[in-house]
Amino acid sequence: MRIAVFPGSFDPITKGHEDIVRRALPLFDKIIVAMGINSNKSYYFSESDRVEFLRAAFSDEPKVEIDTFKKLTVDYCKEKNATFILRGLRNSNDFNYEVAIAMLNRDIGDGLETTFLLTSPEYSYYSSSVVRELLRGGGDVSIFLPTPVATLFKENKK
Ligand code: ADP
Repeated sequence: MRIAVFPGSFDPITKGHEDIVRRALPLFDKIIVAMGINSNKSYYFSESDRVEFLRAAFSDEPKVEIDTFKKLTVDYCKEKNATFILRGLRNSNDFNYEVAIAMLNRDIGDGLETTFLLTSPEYSYYSSSVVRELLRGGGDVSIFLPTPVATLFKENKK
């Protein structure tokens, strides 16, 4: 089994995240979209909302599992028998941030490899922080969200 973990805050998930996971599906037998829980960080959406959005986004995809984790990413991957981390790259800022972490995780994670997929150009400026900024200003965020998540927002459930 080739298992990858896609770790992130997903506050909230965007079409950019969804696109990375769906494009990576042919590479792996299973992808675990794992929401990191960090008690030192403050989030816009609650833990349960963020998980609900992730579940809604991938409810059609049996190879995708949704989970949360608190420990070090390398320890979580070991527990899940995952030998790959999946991450997305939008620009050189993402790259610079990711390099040291990927090298560290390979060292302390017994060869745990990080696989990077480049963003699709149409989503290259999508980010959770843009969505949060628009929401604070009362803007429409539906184009940024996976369709089932946008539906939850439209029905005013969120
Ligand atoms: P983190 O808090 O760990 O940065 P995020 O939830 O912001 O978590 O993102 C998780 C991963 O998704 C990161 O690898 C990030 O670069 C990637 N990502 C976010 N938005 C996009 C996008 N629009 N296109 C491609 N990758 C993206």
